[in-house]
Amino acid sequence: MIDAYSIPVTKTERSKLNDTPLENIPFGKLFTDHMLVADYINGEWTNVEIKPYQNLSVAPSLAAIHYGQAIFEGIKAYRNAAGEAFIFRPYDNWSRFNISAKRMQMPEVPEEIFIEGMRQLISLDKKWIPDYADHSLYIRPFMFSTDEVIGVKASETYKFMIILSPTGPYYSTPARIYVEETYTRAAPGGIGFVKAAGNYGASMLVTAEARKQGYDQVLWTDSAEHKYAQEIGTMNVFFVTGNTVLTPDLEQGTILNGVTRSSAITIMKEMGYKVEEREVSIEEMIGLYKKGQLQEVFGTGTAATITPIRELKYKDFVMTFNVEEWKAAPEMKRRLTDIREGRAADNHGWLFKV
Ligand code: PMP
Repeated sequence: MIDAYSIPVTKTERSKLNDTPLENIPFGKLFTDHMLVADYINGEWTNVEIKPYQNLSVAPSLAAIHYGQAIFEGIKAYRNAAGEAFIFRPYDNWSRFNISAKRMQMPEVPEEIFIEGMRQLISLDKKWIPDYADHSLYIRPFMFSTDEVIGVKASETYKFMIILSPTGPYYSTPARIYVEETYTRAAPGGIGFVKAAGNYGASMLVTAEARKQGYDQVLWTDSAEHKYAQEIGTMNVFFVTGNTVLTPDLEQGTILNGVTRSSAITIMKEMGYKVEEREVSIEEMIGLYKKGQLQEVFGTGTAATITPIRELKYKDFVMTFNVEEWKAAPEMKRRLTDIREGRAADNHGWLFKV
């Protein structure tokens, strides 16, 4: 067990902060001065340290590069008006990370390293949280196998790291989506419910094809019939019909248990909506749409928070939505953003003080 307060820190000799304007920076391209590193060797976590952000040197035989035992998380930290830094629901990401680890036959990362390490790292690089509206610090914990051997077997050694990336507002312009019927993201028994690197690698071709056709992303569907909604890109999906909100359930193990999904469900219930987590068939949504009963479709995720879907295409049928007239999603987004950025009371204990 690592003493929570004994993580050795080597500070950078020259901070990049003064040379780096933080306003409206693009997502994921810029990193702070420091990073956290830990090694899993001989069945235990060791070499936990915070040090200057720097390149890694790895062997060409590094197991992760060949067989993809690699997982990650995405979390955000905010600074409130008083200058205090908070991480949004890091324990949910920690537990999801360890669910990913288990499925990928990787070691779990203890709270002392994942949460406390993250807290200390952010505390050190706190000035990197941009002081502008809608800006935040994106936190990327990740782990990969490090055995230097090209035999197909679970690695015996791993590296866990956390890097931080200041980010500007993620303008979630209303998206055009089509229902995917050729490719499959996840099947029952597979790894759809975990944040494994390969899930994302496998999605690139499909996203590229969608872009070629003028769409932003695809709505993934079940592997057996391509009839039931799963999720969109890096977002969970919600459908608003009257006073009811529908979202695919987690039972099949084919979609990610999104932290924003969970927050959205809680907030929509507080707003008086009835939330149903269940199978959502595309035909059913089209039936509602034709009767004028499908008001809103949106995606939820840490990066963009809430992304309205302005067009959803299934075979030759196109559903379009007048996003400007929506009520539910904008109100939910406002409430969630107010909690995250410290303007509303945190009644759910979602904010973790750095
Ligand atoms: N689905 C997938 C496939 C994702 O990668 C993400 C982003 N982590 C989400 C949904 C949304 O999850 P969260 O709200 O926790 O960011």
